[in-house]
Amino acid sequence: MNEVLKAVGNVFLKMPLGFVVTLRHFFKKPVTLDYPYKKKPMTPRYRGKHYLERYDDSTERCVCCGLCAAACPADAIYMEPEENEKGERRAKIYEINLLRCIFCGFCEEACPEEAIFLGQDYEFSDVNRNAFIYTKEEMLVKHPRKDNPFKRLYRRVRKVHGVTDKIS
Ligand code: SF4
Ligand code: SF4
Repeated sequence: MNEVLKAVGNVFLKMPLGFVVTLRHFFKKPVTLDYPYKKKPMTPRYRGKHYLERYDDSTERCVCCGLCAAACPADAIYMEPEENEKGERRAKIYEINLLRCIFCGFCEEACPEEAIFLGQDYEFSDVNRNAFIYTKEEMLVKHPRKDNPFKRLYRRVRKVHGVTDKIS
């Protein structure tokens, strides 16, 4: 008899309660995204794949000074300089090993030319280790990009106040 009462209780009380929970979520906005067709916009301060910026006249900003490599705690940046046809210094080789990179943003902070930035791109997974060594040609933007005003302000404030990221 007890078993029968329990079964009746399950059917008429617990099951409707379960449906109520399901129905409550049925009309809520989904928390998942239909990736890769829909992509989540990253926050302005997100640090993703690097890119090398150009001046408005399309010349490369990077002068291969090595400050970013000196600031890099992961020793992920390698470069070799050369001179262009006007006798200006630029990078012949500029590589970042993204397997070593910890995306701290110190290279961006250290750059006096505002040449290197960590962008919003997070889709660079690969099965080949060599594909993670990004060359200058892969990182150099085709046209000067419009700077993210939030990032520019963030960098300015940090430079003015000499703020450094705390690693703790
Ligand atoms: S983000 Fe940090 S770890 Fe990565 S290359 Fe720049 S300085 Fe090095
Ligand atoms: S990216 Fe900036 S800091 Fe690094 S070598 Fe080029 S100019 Fe210097």
